[in-house]
Amino acid sequence: MITDFEASLIKKMFELSQLFPLQFYWKLILTHKNIIIMDKKLKDQIAIVTGASSGIGEGCAKELAKAGATVVVNYPLPSAQAMAEQVVAEIAKAGGRAISYQCDVSKEDQVKQMFGDVIRQFGTVDILINNAGLQKDAPFTEMTLEQWNFVLGVNLTGQFLCAREAIKEFLRRGVNGKSKAAGKIICMSSVHEVIPWAGHANYAASKGGVMLMMKTIAQEFAPKKIRINSIAPGAIQTPINHDAWDTAAHLQSLLKLIPEKRIGQVEDIGKAAVWLASDDSDYVNGTTLFVDGGMTLYPGFEDNG
Ligand code: NAD
Repeated sequence: MITDFEASLIKKMFELSQLFPLQFYWKLILTHKNIIIMDKKLKDQIAIVTGASSGIGEGCAKELAKAGATVVVNYPLPSAQAMAEQVVAEIAKAGGRAISYQCDVSKEDQVKQMFGDVIRQFGTVDILINNAGLQKDAPFTEMTLEQWNFVLGVNLTGQFLCAREAIKEFLRRGVNGKSKAAGKIICMSSVHEVIPWAGHANYAASKGGVMLMMKTIAQEFAPKKIRINSIAPGAIQTPINHDAWDTAAHLQSLLKLIPEKRIGQVEDIGKAAVWLASDDSDYVNGTTLFVDGGMTLYPGFEDNG
């Protein structure tokens, strides 16, 4: 990865060069390095990504940083600090900007503190990736109230608390020239906002709740130029579903549920998040983007059912 300064030098050379063959070779080199120097779609925007020390959150943080955003890599507990700092270091090494921030998204006081601190440090927040989430699975009749409340507390209440603070800041600031929108929120939902999931009632209920919370606040704040959407990942290879891909047999059985016959990678979600956060999706509001390799296409009917 090259720095912004190096990128601007290369751009200048591009502009000065009248020699097609030279341009051609530069293009080849840049394409090879996978660098989009003239098109950082989230340039100078401040993004909070919750639960970003691993998995999909980490993937989103890295893709957003590549697109020019300054990223707050949120993590919940001191035990995840080293991982969060590793993500920050990798973003910096690639030429991006990030800080780590500890906050349990299910705790109102901590969420308010995080948004306050970030706004004091960077001036505002432009993008929220409401990603933090977890599972506590149990057969329904054995599910404890504690397991139910714990999952709803992080997956649904956590998204509510973060969205509320983000929207207050978007309303205060309004459109500021960095984007056509006053702010963007992307809620990390799941295919289980529509697919029932036996043994995971708390998780499925939390994602169903995210879907209607997202649509409701999108409706409420669209007139204020705030865009709120969800991504519904299918099976993405992360620690949350380790048991589903840790052996060849488990992976084979998982792939039966995925028409594309591959498990998703965090970059698949990160790239979708960049699109939903950018002005390229300016007319997209209150919708769920399924990034699932076709998991919601009733794969059981692939061979005539
Ligand atoms: P993951 O376990 O790697 O990531 C979850 C992150 O949330 C972790 O970094 C964890 O530290 C953080 N977290 C947990 N509780 C928190 C809290 N109270 N405050 C702040 N952070 C907290 O798993 P993942 O797959 O990357 O999951 C990320 C999101 O994607 C979740 O919302 C999950 O429901 C959703 N999702 C994942 C998949 C998948 O296949 N991996 C599919 C659909 C949806």
